[in-house]
Amino acid sequence: MGDLVDPFGRVVRDLRISVTDRCNFRCTYCMPEEGVPWLPRTQILTFEEITRIASICVGRYGFTGIRLTGGEPTIRAHITRLVAQLAELGIDVAMTTNAATLQHQAHDLRAAGLNRINISLDTLDRAKFQRMTRRDELDSVLAGIDAAIDAGFAPVKINAVIERGVNDDELVDLARFGRERGVEVRFIEFMPLDATDEWQRSTVVGQDEIVARLSAVWDLEQVPARGAAPADRWRYLDGGGLVGVIPTVTKPFCGDCDRIRLTADGQLRTCLFATDEFDLRAALRSGESDDQIAARIEAAVGTKWAGH
Ligand code: SAM
Ligand code: SF4
Repeated sequence: MGDLVDPFGRVVRDLRISVTDRCNFRCTYCMPEEGVPWLPRTQILTFEEITRIASICVGRYGFTGIRLTGGEPTIRAHITRLVAQLAELGIDVAMTTNAATLQHQAHDLRAAGLNRINISLDTLDRAKFQRMTRRDELDSVLAGIDAAIDAGFAPVKINAVIERGVNDDELVDLARFGRERGVEVRFIEFMPLDATDEWQRSTVVGQDEIVARLSAVWDLEQVPARGAAPADRWRYLDGGGLVGVIPTVTKPFCGDCDRIRLTADGQLRTCLFATDEFDLRAALRSGESDDQIAARIEAAVGTKWAGH
């Protein structure tokens, strides 16, 4: 086994796997309401194909973590079976989900070996939730969060994308929600992804402003950074737990990036913003050996940028 090292000396140890391009929400900052051309099912990697790539990453390069994402990972049929296959590799398996159906799945996912779960929740206001996600599912998501806590994920975290003029008035309410439930809320700076035309620099609420607004209510102390983790974290001095900010825009953490991404149709990308894709599905389906696939992964990582 050897490290997978990129041209800037960063060791890659984390694989983000999109298990589907589809979603049961249409968050305004992520997808248009209609007209998304979904991938044909035959182009989506099977669980066996996903597990093969994961096992090469773990077995050859000592990857320590896998995160399942999407689209919405919980709507992929039999997702617990994939979780169980990946957990057998002996690594940390995590998921990022909108939690709309989690109340029915949390315990099974936990039993299958899912360790950690990040749930996206941008507002506690039902009408605003409906505007932001284009779905009236706030109650289901709240039930999903309760189910995740009950299932014993260690830990449950809440991700909230903050958009100025949309939900930045709820910073304190969302933080309070996290304190009351005993879960860590992480505020994400709104990023300019292709899918949205809402993004402008002025709609980003930066980390400094977020921390200042929380500090007006609670005494906070910054927690020392942990390696490649994207969130900067603060401790409530009254014992209320932790709160984080993911400063994707104002303080990009590319210098510590340790991850690569696999799209639902089997394309390897070295950054969320990368324009090049490396076709592992074609390699898998043409019968290439593990050595040949590993060489493709190494070639891809050899193109990883210093930053976006
Ligand atoms: N559907 C799942 C969910 O929403 O949690 C997983 C996929 S979603 C693309 C992963 C995360 O990216 C979510 O926390 C979502 O809020 C965040 N996200 C999506 N678009 C974003 C944007 N333009 N800026 C910042 N974060 C974004
Ligand atoms: Fe779906 Fe997640 Fe995108 Fe919202 S952020 S549309 S839940 S993939």
